Amino acid sequence: MNADNEHPGQDQIGWRFDNTYSRLPDSFFSPAKPATAKAPRLSILNRRLADDLGLDLNGVSPEAAASLFSGQDLPNGSNPIAQAYAGHQFGGFTMLGDGRAILLGEHRSPAGHLVDIQFKGAGRTAYSRGGDGFAALGPMLREYIISEAMFALDIPTTRSLAVATTGETVYRQTRLQGAILTRVAASHIRVGTFEYVAARGDEANLRVLADYTINRHYPELADSPNRYLEFFRAVLDRQAALIARWQLVGFIHGVMNTDNMAISGETIDYGPCAFMNAYSADTVFSSIDHAGRYAYRNQPAIAQWNLARFGETLIPLIDPEQEKAIAIATEVLGEYPALFQEYWLDGMRAKLGMQSAEPDDLDLVQSLQAWMEKSKADFTNTFRDLSADELPVRDQYASPDFQEWNTKWKHRLSRESRPTLLVKAGMRRVNPAVIPRNHRVEEALAAAEDHDDLSVLHRLLKVLATPNEAGADAEMYQAPPSEDGSYRTFCGT
Ligand code: AMP
Ligand code: MG
Repeated sequence: MNADNEHPGQDQIGWRFDNTYSRLPDSFFSPAKPATAKAPRLSILNRRLADDLGLDLNGVSPEAAASLFSGQDLPNGSNPIAQAYAGHQFGGFTMLGDGRAILLGEHRSPAGHLVDIQFKGAGRTAYSRGGDGFAALGPMLREYIISEAMFALDIPTTRSLAVATTGETVYRQTRLQGAILTRVAASHIRVGTFEYVAARGDEANLRVLADYTINRHYPELADSPNRYLEFFRAVLDRQAALIARWQLVGFIHGVMNTDNMAISGETIDYGPCAFMNAYSADTVFSSIDHAGRYAYRNQPAIAQWNLARFGETLIPLIDPEQEKAIAIATEVLGEYPALFQEYWLDGMRAKLGMQSAEPDDLDLVQSLQAWMEKSKADFTNTFRDLSADELPVRDQYASPDFQEWNTKWKHRLSRESRPTLLVKAGMRRVNPAVIPRNHRVEEALAAAEDHDDLSVLHRLLKVLATPNEAGADAEMYQAPPSEDGSYRTFCGT
């Protein structure tokens, strides 16, 4: 694989590594090396993503691919490191870092984008603390499925290029197969990365990190007069937009700690997370989240809490006078609720086929939510039913509450005077028919883990790739589980 290169830094597969992060100050990372894997085997490869990245894996043997995606044969030009970061986990501050992830560097795609290539589960690093640095097959395939589903839903997210098993055993509650996920991200710079540098009290390094991040993710701000304040505002804007997108498809991030919030605005770290079935604003998807800190209804406010932690790190850069810096950063932070509300309400209007804005729209949406909550209606299917040319006949739609809402909604739509067929077609483009429901995800993971059968997973992925098409294949994936309400993913991810 590492044959002679015609172009420096480019090998036969097409890797074009630059290692911009590892040129940053030494304290930002530690060198790392993937652990030896006894018997690497490729579990799944994302060929379409490989194509988009300009990687040609066609001539690569299965053995060579397994060796590559298990970290045994590192790509030319890569420079493996573990990134340092800190984070507020469930509200408490901790110094962390990549304890089980290794960044190979940044690859330049044919479209000119610089993307992180990271191995998750490749063994211990300088930041592993008591952990083994490994990951199990189930959770890595779970991240693969959910992240690719989010991408197909057009929601900013890290991507999954491959999962390889290592042939090693990892010990959790039971013995599990070790696996490595190759994650592709705009970057892995988190709120927690800023917290780490700020906690060390080194203002010069903080500026280096901020400038690097602005240059990488918000280059349009590089010359702005108060670029650090504008940077804060821009990150806030992307997060407001992102969390609104999550809420609009019923996605719940199980662990919205500050180390799991990416400055790029991508969704990152699919551990305990899920899409809800029956609408319930209290839904929580992490078994260790007893207080419901990261419940569906709390996620917008938690994002603001995390952004406050981010803003605090930028204070010394915003103004030399601390009081003044705090005052202006607080003002910008205060813009978040209205900004989120605007993204969310615009999204809800689109989900309900409304193009104009009327003062009572919020009421209309909230009364639908109240009805869904009371009647335990499935979130995804309700919006999809409303998007059908004719509302399907179901018991729940016979209730007087629903009828009353439906009449109001129809009047609201009639004031826009657009042909119903057009309105409904538009709604079907924003209301997915298929989401990765947990019982289907679990079924796919069980087949893969217990029977080495990836066919269930591939069938699921195929349907999730076009979530707004309700073809015959999609039908079995649209049904909610028969018994719902108790699903938790476990944090031993
Ligand atoms: P996460 O819950 O995946 O966001 O991880 C939180 C922190 O725990 C990060 O610093 C991870 O690198 C670390 N971590 C999670 N699992 C392991 C593991 N098996 N070995 C070492 N560190 C881990
Ligand atoms: Mg994390």
